[in-house]
Amino acid sequence: MTKPHIIYITGGAQGIGLGIAHTLLTDGYRVAITDIDKEALSAAAERLPRRENLLTLMADVSDEAQVAASLEKTVSHFGQLNGIVHNASIADPFHGPVEQLSLATWQAYLNTNLTGAFLCAKHGAAYLRPHGGSMVLMASSRAIQSEPDTEAYAASKGGIVALPHALAVSLGPDIRVNAVSPGWIEVGDWQKPSRQQPVEHRDIDREQHPAGRVGTPEDIAALTRFLLSKESGFITGQNFVADGGMTRKMIYAE
Ligand code: NAD
Repeated sequence: MTKPHIIYITGGAQGIGLGIAHTLLTDGYRVAITDIDKEALSAAAERLPRRENLLTLMADVSDEAQVAASLEKTVSHFGQLNGIVHNASIADPFHGPVEQLSLATWQAYLNTNLTGAFLCAKHGAAYLRPHGGSMVLMASSRAIQSEPDTEAYAASKGGIVALPHALAVSLGPDIRVNAVSPGWIEVGDWQKPSRQQPVEHRDIDREQHPAGRVGTPEDIAALTRFLLSKESGFITGQNFVADGGMTRKMIYAE
């Protein structure tokens, strides 16, 4: 790269977002990460390489004014914007019967996971347009398969699979928009210190995946980097499932 690309990542202080930031910074990109967790943002700044190319911002992706302001700060700081990764989501899927799912909880999932993507597109498009920008929206394999009692999360991710084709048609050819649907990604090592958990996988966990293992943030970062780059210039409006083949494997109860 002659001039480092500038990428804005929501929910970049932990997990997959932190993994994407790590990969991009290592490759010479300049990266702004936003998050609502101050402690995690500080820990991320300690952990990430090439800190001179990193900007950390407190911003709630479900809040329109905070999204607009953090995008503006990113452009003021780095001079331009080439890509947006909307990765933030509410961490723990609500596991309870739909009869007990409150409207407020339902709306909280939609607001962060789906409306956040809309706000990034609405306020980021003008910055991305002059540079042939790219957006990557983090969906989930749960957009296409479910456990019981995960309606709000699944619905929010279903929206994230639909939004890229709408945005790609509206914003093309200047801006490309794609979704990534991770399967089971082990993020235990990529949390702030107080949230880190020992990572242990059983044989049955590995065997559930035709690829023979659970995924890593680096797996998702590699795909995201490709979709942000000019190498993927003929790809837009798509959803890419990165799940080690888990959703392709038939599983029968023994
Ligand atoms: P994570 O909980 O490790 O990290 C999410 C980060 O987003 C956290 O730092 C959190 O503070 C931040 N965040 C939460 N709400 C926010 C808000 N309103 N504004 C800004 N930041 C906010 O999660 P993860 O497992 O790394 O997941 C990242 C993305 O990947 C999510 O969109 C998730 O749905 C998706 N995903 C993850 C998996 C997996 O197995 N880990 C599987 C499928 C999809």
